[in-house]
Amino acid sequence: MRRCGFINRVTAVVLQPASVFTSLVWRLVVPLVGGMEGFERNGSGGKSLRKREDLTSFEPYSWEPSTEEIARSVGISPGRVVRMDTNVSPYAPVEVLKRLAGRLPRLRVNHYPDTSYRELRELLSDYADWDQDLIVPTNGADEGIDVISSAFLRSGLSAVAPVPTYSYFRVSTELQGARFVPVERGQDFGFSADDLLERYDKSTAVFWICDPNNPTGNLTDEGALRRLCEETEALVVIDEAYFEFSGRTSLRLLRDYPNVCVVRTLSKAFGLAGLRIGYVLCTEEVVRELNKARPPNSLGTVNVAGAVIALRNRGYVERVVKEIVRERERMALELTRIDGLTVFPSSANFLLVRLRSESEASAVKDALLRRGIVVRTFPGNPRLGDCIRVTVCSRRENERFLRALRSALEEVREGRRR
Ligand code: PMP
Repeated sequence: MRRCGFINRVTAVVLQPASVFTSLVWRLVVPLVGGMEGFERNGSGGKSLRKREDLTSFEPYSWEPSTEEIARSVGISPGRVVRMDTNVSPYAPVEVLKRLAGRLPRLRVNHYPDTSYRELRELLSDYADWDQDLIVPTNGADEGIDVISSAFLRSGLSAVAPVPTYSYFRVSTELQGARFVPVERGQDFGFSADDLLERYDKSTAVFWICDPNNPTGNLTDEGALRRLCEETEALVVIDEAYFEFSGRTSLRLLRDYPNVCVVRTLSKAFGLAGLRIGYVLCTEEVVRELNKARPPNSLGTVNVAGAVIALRNRGYVERVVKEIVRERERMALELTRIDGLTVFPSSANFLLVRLRSESEASAVKDALLRRGIVVRTFPGNPRLGDCIRVTVCSRRENERFLRALRSALEEVREGRRR
């Protein structure tokens, strides 16, 4: 875990439902069964575990440390910590939670959830303006990505993605035993269809496109997406986790091409990251494949009930998005006024900011942490090592960040001069 030392102590895998556990075992162990050559042996106490040898040097997703762990490590109370590293909403939708609390006593949690998620799909259909039969609800967008991977990828196949991008695309691809093919984005973090098409061959089953892109914030050229759909037989996956902040969607491509789907989440604009609700908008061809691969009961009854209430009362989402977008522009302007910073244009709820060097980015991150503010850095990344990524939060939190950043920069640059 390169990003932080907090979680080295984690030795247990915390998973609730047995089906999620089975699915994990299935993803990790089964893809290579068929011959003992695929297994790595290492003995301890005379006993060995059959592990996938293709995962020996696999780099897992680096989990974010908990707010409590961060607070403990810098000696402040958890209430003082501002999380500007996870791109979630600064606002918990309190009205939604109150209504959910009222419904809790009537929820039949002794039963499995309705595995068709009919009510949730109806409301998502109304929100996204897409046929409810072509929507697959998932346990967060990450599970959507996993379901796509298990339906479309396996050993011998590959997935192409313009990088830097959301790191879970690589993780999910490699967990299927498939090959992840990164294609460097250009100077402004855009990419050309030609660059991706150059890497398209008969093994390519998926293109992962994050739009707006995490962690760079830029939008994708629609012409490039069209060419990928038009000129290949691979599935073009468009991850629109942040689409509400850009006001733009590529959903119309699904009307024109069979080989495309859109992944979304209620974790960002809806302020429901803790409820774990995502969804995939599909074509008929894609929905058939995803329904083969999706776990039957991965969305909990309480979580679905919360999502249903949020989708029925979604006036607040528009207000939150408006405020975050206004704050994003204000913050970007303030940041450009600070010496030695480059702020990249963003269509999402975060800003990517380049500092003078990787060591400055790392020192500023630590100095901000001591002031109770957590930002994301990308140590060792050749394109982003000198950058920090900051989630746009409430006006008060953003002001606190700007003040802390000015003083952190002063401290770091002053220290260097001495
Ligand atoms: N896609 C992108 C681009 C993201 O940034 C994230 C959040 N880290 C996700 C998917 C996962 O979202 P969820 O919380 O719905 O699993």
